Amino acid sequence: MSTTRILVLSASQILPVIPRDTVLVDHALVIRDGIIQTLLPREEALAQYPDAEHLHREGHALIPGLVNVHTHSGMSLLRGLGSDRPLMDWLKRYIWPAEGRLLSPEFVRAGTRLSVAEMLRGGTTCFSDMYLFVDDAARVVDETGIRAALGLTVFDFPTPWAQTADEYFQRGAEVVENWQHHDRIHYTVAPHAPYTVGDESLQRVAERARELAVPIHMHVHETAGEIADAERDHGERPLARLARLGLLDQPFIAVHMTQVSAQDRDLLQGRPVSVAHCPESNLKLASGFCPVAELLDAGVTVGLGTDGTASNNDLDMIGEMRTAALLAKGISGNASALPATAALEMATLGSARALGLADRIGSLEPGKQADVVSIDLRAIELQPMHEPAAQIVYAATREAVTDVHVAGRPLLRDRELLTLDLDELQAEAREWGARVLEIQRELAA
Ligand SMILES: [Zn+2]
Repeated sequence: MSTTRILVLSASQILPVIPRDTVLVDHALVIRDGIIQTLLPREEALAQYPDAEHLHREGHALIPGLVNVHTHSGMSLLRGLGSDRPLMDWLKRYIWPAEGRLLSPEFVRAGTRLSVAEMLRGGTTCFSDMYLFVDDAARVVDETGIRAALGLTVFDFPTPWAQTADEYFQRGAEVVENWQHHDRIHYTVAPHAPYTVGDESLQRVAERARELAVPIHMHVHETAGEIADAERDHGERPLARLARLGLLDQPFIAVHMTQVSAQDRDLLQGRPVSVAHCPESNLKLASGFCPVAELLDAGVTVGLGTDGTASNNDLDMIGEMRTAALLAKGISGNASALPATAALEMATLGSARALGLADRIGSLEPGKQADVVSIDLRAIELQPMHEPAAQIVYAATREAVTDVHVAGRPLLRDRELLTLDLDELQAEAREWGARVLEIQRELAA
């Protein structure tokens, strides 16, 4: 018989996200077998659970683990490659050729490990992935203790992972089979983009996502060029095509959405469609601006993502919250657009909702998984502390993250990774980095 493990995790402040705009002072989370049982004033928690393990963080804030709603974790060995070029030029001249030469299970495992280390050190406890060799990414998720929604990727063209649409679906089915009932591995079905997946495969995607009861996860309306090409070739906007094919009648995560017409807004409203906002990738690739404040006002669920490190160049969700909050004000001309607490909610519960995981993660509420991040707010740069959410979003950096728990298990303690070896990661990154450079030189020659 296994014994019950109770952890009392306390800090000077807790920002549970739900109830909204709440700061609990000197409170504790009581965590039983990885699940939040209750939130109590610290003294009360200690009196009620005298035998529990107790971890207190003075001067820190506890927030729900950040949920990165869109990334390509296996790509991190290509971090920053071909920077400062527009999307299609960047993809065709740098990313796709390099991937064509390098993609392998080893490449994806090493890249995913590097990404997981970065994410944990920045307070991300769950990531929604879209890449290839998904089984290898699952292995890293299993080994490192992080949580993920792995995209079962579909393309209509060959990659080193699969040659045909049939094979992509087959590979995806194998992943689900291999990791059945894993409590930290979730899925999406992930057709890459409207311009890389045809109608027939998209209909199969919809069917597969319904069978698995998971969302579809797809790059949609990333650039104005994508829309212009689609209108020229198909006579309709990509979102309208997806609606016509029935994909928007079930949970669907539209990544980017920098181009939103009145017609698009009508298609989004009242449907189970969420938007994955990736502001830094959109800024870096000059893709456009997602009208986040407008979408939130229209009742659309919006989650926050970093996109991959090839186009960002980091997986820093605290930095991403700041960019999102500032950008929303800049493009709407309204200083009250996306306030700090809303940015925090977007990066936690918003992403969790998009992934269909809001019953488990995204806020510090009884019954949810104890995915918790501790942020040290004692630095002089953050004083005086009037509004912790605003300080976290506008002033803190990811280096302030000290502790990370996923399902109550510590994965980062005092900034030290407990399930990954930094020296090994450094050596691995150097080795792969040298190969990436060599290939870049060969491709340029
Ligand atoms: Zn992406």
